[in-house]
Amino acid sequence: MLNIVLFGPPGAGKGTQAAKLIEKYQLVHISTGDLFRMHIKEQTELGKRVKDLLDNGILVPDSVTIDMLEEEVQKNPDAKGIIFDGFPRTVPQAEALDAFLSSKNSGIKTVLQLDVNEEELKRRIAERRKISGRADDDQDKLVKRIDEYFNKTVHVLPYYQGQNKLTVVNGIGQIEDIFGQLCSSIDTE
Ligand code: AMP
Repeated sequence: MLNIVLFGPPGAGKGTQAAKLIEKYQLVHISTGDLFRMHIKEQTELGKRVKDLLDNGILVPDSVTIDMLEEEVQKNPDAKGIIFDGFPRTVPQAEALDAFLSSKNSGIKTVLQLDVNEEELKRRIAERRKISGRADDDQDKLVKRIDEYFNKTVHVLPYYQGQNKLTVVNGIGQIEDIFGQLCSSIDTE
């Protein structure tokens, strides 16, 4: 299976690049942020539990996130591969994902990090907010989300570096150029 983790801070272009990668490699896209938003919209029990956290840009507890993720993977038994977008965000999540995939005789093939500096992120999110209407794209919440990324999520990178699976791609530039770099990294793996 071609399982890929797409990694990067809010506003790095993960959604845009994920859409292109899915089309090219025929992969299933699993975005934990999208799943949480769907639960909130549908007012499920899970949605009610996580709404305040999402509205405030705070990470959902690992156990809740991991359970939801595993359930979503189980729904796609015939997938050629999965793009994990927004997951894992903590080392325990990364460890849980490895354990879960290896129980299915599978694993993560590569981790692609979209590298974008904080200045550019803030500019992009301000733009996105105009069209997305996402409550957590609000300026204060954004600072919190970026903090969560730099305080907690970046610690996942050494975990994958240690496994020799990490590729860093400059996330600033033309969408097609960035996509080309991601593809060549996948193809050479
Ligand atoms: P995203 O759309 O990926 O930026 O995620 C939006 C929000 O969903 C985050 O700010 C968190 O509150 C929550 N979330 C998404 N993925 C995770 C995750 N892997 N672990 C914890 N919380 C998450």
